[in-house]
Amino acid sequence: MEDNILYDLLGEHFYQDDSYVYVVDKEGRIIYHQDTERINDVVNENLVVQKLMNKESGAERIVNSREVDMLAGYAYVPETGWGIVAQRPTEIALKPNHAMIRQMIINSLPSLLLSIVLVFFIAKLIAMPLQKMALLTEDSTQQNPSNQLRKVNAWYYEAIRLKRALTSSLGFLHDKVDHITHESQTDALTQLTNRRTLDSLLRLWVGEQTRFALIVIDIDHFKRINDTYGHAVGDQVLVYLANTMKAAAGEHAVCCRYGGEEFVVLLPDKGLAEAWEIAERVRLAVCAEASPCGEKITISAGVAAFPEQADNTVDLFHLADQRLYEAKRNGRNRTATGLSEKLS
Ligand code: GH3
Ligand code: MG
Ligand code: MG
Repeated sequence: MEDNILYDLLGEHFYQDDSYVYVVDKEGRIIYHQDTERINDVVNENLVVQKLMNKESGAERIVNSREVDMLAGYAYVPETGWGIVAQRPTEIALKPNHAMIRQMIINSLPSLLLSIVLVFFIAKLIAMPLQKMALLTEDSTQQNPSNQLRKVNAWYYEAIRLKRALTSSLGFLHDKVDHITHESQTDALTQLTNRRTLDSLLRLWVGEQTRFALIVIDIDHFKRINDTYGHAVGDQVLVYLANTMKAAAGEHAVCCRYGGEEFVVLLPDKGLAEAWEIAERVRLAVCAEASPCGEKITISAGVAAFPEQADNTVDLFHLADQRLYEAKRNGRNRTATGLSEKLS
């Protein structure tokens, strides 16, 4: 009778996927099993049945009598002392539901794609200022990138700090480079172009066959100025001469301290006659007023022109020097061109 009820209750269910249910009484005897031959088997050595006999309910992973790995749920029924065990093969219970997974993938695909696009977009936004700063830093040897750096849209904290650090260090670097470049090209006492720069300029112009003239200038009796007023005053006289020369020679002239108290003025795109005029302007300006020693000083000058009179710098300087000494020989405080009578 009881068996019949159990069969009615349990007989129709639980048997797909090799799942099954069995019921044991309080001695561990099977009183219901889908396999009727097992009815009345005493299975009290079974771990789950032992737990039921201890009046426990719960779930276990076990290996059944056919050596199949099963997940078992068991419930003790206090009213009768029976135990009900429902078992399902572990492999089937845990087998993923492919359809469900496919559906999950389909459902999550749009948001996944959106996330990828968003991540890509945000990554680009983050990388953009860094990329621009990297490019500007690579170019920084050519020119000071501070102005372009200012335009970079550094919109987050780290980029702002990086931009600030780059702006200040590159600015500092360029100031230093400018300063050192200026120092390497300039005479420290007079601030005129130094001889090294003059030589490279001459190489360039001769290489390009640029027309120019040069004036070689030497102070007359400068030893006496030094001897009378001291070397420091002599230095001030050199600075005075440099400033007067720059002002009188015009903005296109390149005024250079060639060494000691000898100076050279380069006049791009000028011929001999124009150079003579400029040399005279300088000479007259120098002796027009008292120098820092209190006395007026005078200078002598020699002039030569490229390429009319020499096709290389050595010959050109030799010619200008010869004319300078000619001016000295002829009484100083004058300009010699080799054609001085005609010019003056
Ligand atoms: P001259 O008219 O023949 O040129 O006579 P000078 O006395 O000027 O003779 P010279 O050109 O040979 O003299 C060069 C002098 O310039 C010698 C040196 O004492 C002085 N001198 C060279 N460099 C400097 C410098 O940097 N500062 C000072 N104060 N004197 C210098
Ligand atoms: Mg001299
Ligand atoms: Mg001299």
